[in-house]
Parts: sequence; C-alpha cells; structure tokens
Amino acid sequence: MADDKLRSGVVKFLKTDLGIRKINFALPSAGSVFRLWPDAYKGVGEAISTEQIRLVQKQLPAGVGAQYDPGLDTLRLRIGFDINNKRDQAFLVHECTHAFFDIKNLGQHLKSSDEAAAYLAEAILLEAGSQPPLGTEQVRQVSHPIAKTVIKGQYWISDSDFKALSAAWARSEGADPKTMFNSNGLNTLSRSARPLIELTK
Ligand SMILES: [Zn+2]
Repeated sequence: MADDKLRSGVVKFLKTDLGIRKINFALPSAGSVFRLWPDAYKGVGEAISTEQIRLVQKQLPAGVGAQYDPGLDTLRLRIGFDINNKRDQAFLVHECTHAFFDIKNLGQHLKSSDEAAAYLAEAILLEAGSQPPLGTEQVRQVSHPIAKTVIKGQYWISDSDFKALSAAWARSEGADPKTMFNSNGLNTLSRSARPLIELTK
C-alpha cells in the first residue's frame, strides 16, 4: 500500500493543481459521457482519500509512471513516484482520467475513446506547465498540438482530431482499434464493509 504522506500529496494535487484547471474538453464523437473538467479530478481525489480507489506503490515496467486497474479500483504508482515531479504528475493525470470513467461506470466501450481522453488530458497538463511530451509515441505527438488549442479555450474536440488521437493510440500500442475496455464502477460495497470488520475486532 502507499503511505499516508503520498496519498495526501496525490489528493492535494488532484484537488488544487493549477494545470488541472486547464483540462476542460468534450469528445462528442466518442459519446456524450466523454467530457472532462477540473472538478472531475477532485472527484477522483476524493475517492482516493476515502480509499474507494486504492493507492499502491510498486515496481512498474520501464517508462511507466502509473497504472489504473478498473477491475480492482486500484491506482498503482511507480516506486520512486514524486508528486512534485512534472512527469510523474502527467502520468498520474492520465491514469486518473481512466479512474474518472471507471467512477462513471461506463461498462464496455472502445478503449481508444478512453485513451484519446487520457492522452489529451496528460498533454494539457504538460503544455500548461510548458513541459515536453512524456515520450515520442505517435499518440503523444498528435495530442500535444490539440492540447494547445484546449488551453486556448477550445472545448469541443473535432471528429477529425478525435479520429487522429484514436488511430495514433492504436498504432502506438500496436492495438486493434476495436479493442474494448470495461469501466465497471467502484466496488463501494466491499470497501465500506472493511472498517466495520475492523471495528468489531
Ligand atoms: Zn491510458
């Protein structure tokens, strides 16, 4: 598990960071639920603070800063993760975008839609802090110019930009563009039961 200091740092970042205030867009071609706004990340921060989303620190593959598992409602951060590091913050925002759609309980949907939103959110955070892309992947090259337009106030992402993001994600990952993804909501029942068991000890 992650320690309390890391958890409180992550929650504070998600609730107060000025770069997150720039994440405000909709992907109408992906569906009406694919909208992000700053307070969406406050909701994820709240779920982490109440441990409805579990925060875990562990060894992750090289080049991976964070992972979100919608099945286990678990956010994994790399060993050495530093909430004050701009690069780690961008990995976190990417994964918290997946967490937000998990909270929304979307069910089965195209993974490319989730990833288009997550890569764009990541790029907005980086551009807001005058940071370069996290890597040279095509999806990161495509997302940054679109992120600049969002920071300038563009809210609706065009169908052509959405398709470019989705296609670039599939090429970057070597994934089938039709890959599905399941966001099944937070398993609040079993989590809220845990303190009761501890109280009866
Ligand atoms: Zn992702």
